Amino acid sequence: MATIAVIGSGFGGLSLAARLQARGFDVTLFEKNEHVGGHAYQMKKNGYTFDLGPSLITSPGIIKDIFKAANKRLEDYVELVPLDPFYRIYFHDGTFTDYQGDTAEMKRQLGKFDEHDAANYERFIKFAGKIHHKVIVEGLGKKPFDLATMLKFTPAATRLMVPLPSYTAVRRFFRHPKNVFTFSFNTLFIGGNPFRSPSVYLMIPYLEKEEGIWYSKGGMYSLVKAMEKLFIDLNGTLRTNSPVAKITVENGVATGVVVNDEHLKFDAVVSNAHFASTHLDLIDRSARRKWSDRKVKNMDYSMSAFMLYLGVKKQYPKMLHHTLIIAKRYKQLIYDIFDRKILADDFSLYCHVPTRTDKSMAPEGCESMYVLAPVPNLLAKINWDDMARPFAERIINFLEHEFGLTDLKENLEVMEIFTPNDFESLCNDYLGSAWGLEPKLTQTAIFRPKNRSEDIKNFYLVGASTHPGAGVPGVLLSAEATENAIVQDFNTQPEK
Ligand SMILES: Cc1cc2nc3c(=O)[nH]c(=O)nc-3n(C[C@H](O)[C@H](O)[C@H](O)COP(=O)(O)OP(=O)(O)OC[C@H]3O[C@@H](n4cnc5c(N)ncnc54)[C@H](O)[C@@H]3O)c2cc1C
Repeated sequence: MATIAVIGSGFGGLSLAARLQARGFDVTLFEKNEHVGGHAYQMKKNGYTFDLGPSLITSPGIIKDIFKAANKRLEDYVELVPLDPFYRIYFHDGTFTDYQGDTAEMKRQLGKFDEHDAANYERFIKFAGKIHHKVIVEGLGKKPFDLATMLKFTPAATRLMVPLPSYTAVRRFFRHPKNVFTFSFNTLFIGGNPFRSPSVYLMIPYLEKEEGIWYSKGGMYSLVKAMEKLFIDLNGTLRTNSPVAKITVENGVATGVVVNDEHLKFDAVVSNAHFASTHLDLIDRSARRKWSDRKVKNMDYSMSAFMLYLGVKKQYPKMLHHTLIIAKRYKQLIYDIFDRKILADDFSLYCHVPTRTDKSMAPEGCESMYVLAPVPNLLAKINWDDMARPFAERIINFLEHEFGLTDLKENLEVMEIFTPNDFESLCNDYLGSAWGLEPKLTQTAIFRPKNRSEDIKNFYLVGASTHPGAGVPGVLLSAEATENAIVQDFNTQPEK
């Protein structure tokens, strides 16, 4: 069976490696860091445990499929717990929405602000369900997206308002700004600007309603470890501390990788590393016709994140497992982050407090808390060496004095800060764009870099910047799309 090198052990790389190994390919997974997981890595300090990045699990079905493809059961590897409500959104005036899957309760939440919106909720979910049907049920998300697929999808896409920005489509159903926010902001979870991400991403609220939001006991990293174990159980070869320095290409065909000064030959190579760093750093210019340096640099990249990881020797029940705290400005703040690329005076925050569900994440009576503020990527002229501390202070002062986490500062036992520079060095994120390519209309579906390289034979991409896109469900689907392309190209039959 063919030998395959997978570069990078994010969720996309890990799940693809396991899928291919289960089919009988001989897979070696190279990770530059000493640990697997990419953005989903975990940090431990003074008895506190913090997931670094992803924290919401939105589609357990897609995760189960990976284990099923290897004739295994997810339940034997990790325990998933449903959350209710999914998250709470606090608005600037102290009102809030408890976002959840129950129809009657969700209508009550929307009705707090506008009865018209409550009455339209089921109509919206039906609309989102139609998009979900195309992408998930009909499998658009897990097939390499080619011209034939595009032509087939176009009539339905037009009917479903897919070319419209998410925000504009949501406004056709809801009118109160708070309710419009609730259903349009979630493209931010995948690095997209709600005012220009196509409304195909509105399948997310449907996915959340149908399958719920889950937590994996021990944190998101326990899911990473489960996939790592799956790959090892299948006799895959994992090489950590192995930065790939080059993908070798001969006569337009990928032939292997250079790792720690060693040239290793493979029948195919897949990159799960950031799209831009893969092309700019690992592949000779002469091997790239479509993805020239200029074209790669001209693409639009996602925002970045400023992260605070706080170990607090006090508990704050006001914080649910997932809590959003929203600034008064919506469109203008998004514009500051994505377009003006400035660090604004105000901020919106997403907080993850796993101790609300899982006591093992902190010492007894304490809270493990992460606070995420979306910020511009490194195209912004922000000197994070100077700005990180003052910005952290501003956020903590806000949480303590305006939001009401009394005595937060004096109860801090751990405070770690992560800036866009850290994303760049931890994961090789070009411009610190932690979600890869921005998911806007002209960088989605047929316009997104393909799972099968358009420049080099036997070379593939998997992960956030390829089809269908970022976010854990997206990159897990990309693994299936890339697996399908490889299976087609190597003419193999499924072993199962
Ligand atoms: C702060 C934050 C919060 C998020 N929250 C959520 C959430 O709640 N839910 C959700 O669904 N999604 C969330 N996301 C998005 C999600 O985490 C990502 O889209 C997803 O994890 C990316 O996976 P990936 O497969 O693209 O790989 P990545 O995580 O990008 O991993 C790529 C891997 O490649 C390795 N690598 C890079 N270059 C090389 C090289 N030359 N040689 C060897 N290895 C290399 C890197 O070290 C890394 O391990 C969040 C993202 C961030 C940043």
